[in-house]
Amino acid sequence: MSTELDLVVKAPRIISTAGEVGRCIGVAGGRIVAIEPLDSDLSARQHVELGDDEVLMPGLVDSHVHVNDPGRTEWEGFTSATRAAAAGGVTTIIDMPLNSIPPTVDVAALDLKRKTAEGQCFVDVGFWGGAVPGNVTDLRPLYDAGVFGFKCFLLHSGVDEFPHLDPPELEAAMRELRSFDGLMIVHAEDSHAIDRAPTAHGESYQDFLASRPRGAENLAIAQVIELARWTGCRVHILHVSSSDALPMIASAKREGVDLTVETCPHYLSFSAEEIPDGATQFKCCPPIRESGNREQLWKGLEDGTIDMVVSDHSPSTVDLKCLDIGDFGVAWGGISSLQLGLPAVWTQARRRGFTLVDVARWMCQAPARQTGLRTKGRIEIGYDADFSVFAPDEAFVVDVHKLHHKNAVTPYADRPLAGVVRSTWLRGRRIDIDQEPRGRLLTRGGA
Ligand SMILES: [Zn+2]
Repeated sequence: MSTELDLVVKAPRIISTAGEVGRCIGVAGGRIVAIEPLDSDLSARQHVELGDDEVLMPGLVDSHVHVNDPGRTEWEGFTSATRAAAAGGVTTIIDMPLNSIPPTVDVAALDLKRKTAEGQCFVDVGFWGGAVPGNVTDLRPLYDAGVFGFKCFLLHSGVDEFPHLDPPELEAAMRELRSFDGLMIVHAEDSHAIDRAPTAHGESYQDFLASRPRGAENLAIAQVIELARWTGCRVHILHVSSSDALPMIASAKREGVDLTVETCPHYLSFSAEEIPDGATQFKCCPPIRESGNREQLWKGLEDGTIDMVVSDHSPSTVDLKCLDIGDFGVAWGGISSLQLGLPAVWTQARRRGFTLVDVARWMCQAPARQTGLRTKGRIEIGYDADFSVFAPDEAFVVDVHKLHHKNAVTPYADRPLAGVVRSTWLRGRRIDIDQEPRGRLLTRGGA
């Protein structure tokens, strides 16, 4: 069998579920077919030997990416997004149903999105559907057509063509999803609580923070948990920012509510205290909160209350970020970070005593498990040979003009980060972002 291998990777440091180990990996037909001791003599058509300063990680699975294509391709697009993903060690993204036009709320829109993405993707791409008022009967057909689950908002989404669900609509959609074991993923901020909070305007970050209070997030998360309990629908809370919500999340999980939770690199990296007034590149919703809150989010990752870390890459054009006037009331709320997620999280994680095994659990394994990708997120026999070759002790300073995102805005600009992605491999082949894209379009259960 050793003569049939396409690729052998000899790596003194592999990030596996058993820890960091030295192994020789054999790949055939795009899958991992052998994991042998480092000194074994597997032979293949192609041999790669990693240095002692490099680790072989599973390719990252980023289940929260706004590609915005079709319809808002000046914001991003499949080509630029998947180039950035590949450059950042990400081998699978799941695209959000909104900010593209049309939003992915029925099968026709999904078909159009797939047609748009076809042949443009350097990494594998799957799609979320959307749950909006009036589309309950579209949910099952969308699920059958291969979406991974359904996103909904509980307040204005930021774009008018993707309206939010009120509580009765949310319950109806969750009951429908329960009937076919679908997954609801929720942007949890409560509409009424946000309406009653002070309005954000001007340059003050503190005013913006006050306009998106923890209470609005806590309330919405509590509602979603109760609906999950009543309906039995599987739910996932997107981009948790308020650490106040962690005890009730932990309690719901203990009681058996089918619930998963993500947070994002920016909530783990930055703090409200250090964001300068007018620095709208930091604007996102829910907002980046205080440093004490950030440390509680790290504790939530440590104890498993938070399952995963994904980017919520939500770019816009430079002018919509309003960097010139620095007005938090009008700037687009969304942070660009797809290419930077791994080094951003690693920079903060290592400082707090975590290892790359932890990072791989949060950024590879858990998002793959949560989206039902049975061949992604691990270096194990039978899994896709999707790898990131990462040099964890090398550092770099973020130069926005060297990123592959379409628009050169990110709060990580000019920051030093630890860890450099040296190469990214998809199904046993090194991704070359100047060659023909080889990424596949994924359907739920199909990978
Ligand atoms: Zn998002």
